[in-house]
Amino acid sequence: MHTIRIAGVDIGGSGVRAALHPGGAVQTIPLEARDVETVLAAVQSALAPLGELDAVGVALPGFLDGDVVRASPNFPTWKQLPIRALLEERLGVPVSVENDGTAAAAGAWSARGCCEDLVLLTLGTGVGGGAVLDGKIWRGRTGSAGEFGHIYAGGEQLCGCGARGCLETWAGTAGWIRRLAASGRHIDNGRQVINAAIDQQAWAIDLLDDAGRALGRATRSLANALDPDVIVLSGGLVAAKSWLEPGLMDGLSRAAAPMAERVKVEWKGRAESLAIRGAAESAAALLRKRSAV
Ligand SMILES: [Zn+2]
Repeated sequence: MHTIRIAGVDIGGSGVRAALHPGGAVQTIPLEARDVETVLAAVQSALAPLGELDAVGVALPGFLDGDVVRASPNFPTWKQLPIRALLEERLGVPVSVENDGTAAAAGAWSARGCCEDLVLLTLGTGVGGGAVLDGKIWRGRTGSAGEFGHIYAGGEQLCGCGARGCLETWAGTAGWIRRLAASGRHIDNGRQVINAAIDQQAWAIDLLDDAGRALGRATRSLANALDPDVIVLSGGLVAAKSWLEPGLMDGLSRAAAPMAERVKVEWKGRAESLAIRGAAESAAALLRKRSAV
């Protein structure tokens, strides 16, 4: 009998990661540029060592409309890009595409045993997210549901999406860089903030405290709106957990009693591995759907 071989791929701003599912070692191809051809070639290179495949699931950062990327903050040249068709043509196998936050939520949900309603936030350059509710991956009408980075979390700081006061302006490193620049302090990345907080520098501790409080306001809204069993925080800024957690837990505790008393919070470092898992499971679901027709 032919064993079905499926791979998951996570396309990030700095590189493409791919692994056989379940349990394969992750191949990483750094991205030298962000144009379509470079990214497609990197996906192919990341998959090449994995051998023959039956299907590929791809997670990517961007606003989806079905199988088309309408726009992606990390890949500014991608506009109305028919990514699934391009990948299927290139790879010669069925491909499924998911928003990376949605794929990470799906991966976290299945890793926890598929029984609990889950909301996930990814904290990195920006803030992404996804949800699995009533046992279903929650994609919304277009596949872009779960953009929790753009829910209102206070203040008037301008966000990359054009709105003001989005969670991402507080809890993503691009927001930190802009916020600090406005007060005359220039940093290049989030690690500098975390290192400064470790060194007990007040400006960094204050910034992280503000970020934690914004996360508290946002997760309070999410708990009130969605009543999940668990909220998962993932991504690179999980390294700042000890400064973010007090504000987050304080805000979340102000949700209405039934939600606040029940909801669990889990911190999980690597969003990419969760996204690879969730993307591969979407590809498996696509194969099942096709063989059932
Ligand atoms: Zn926004």
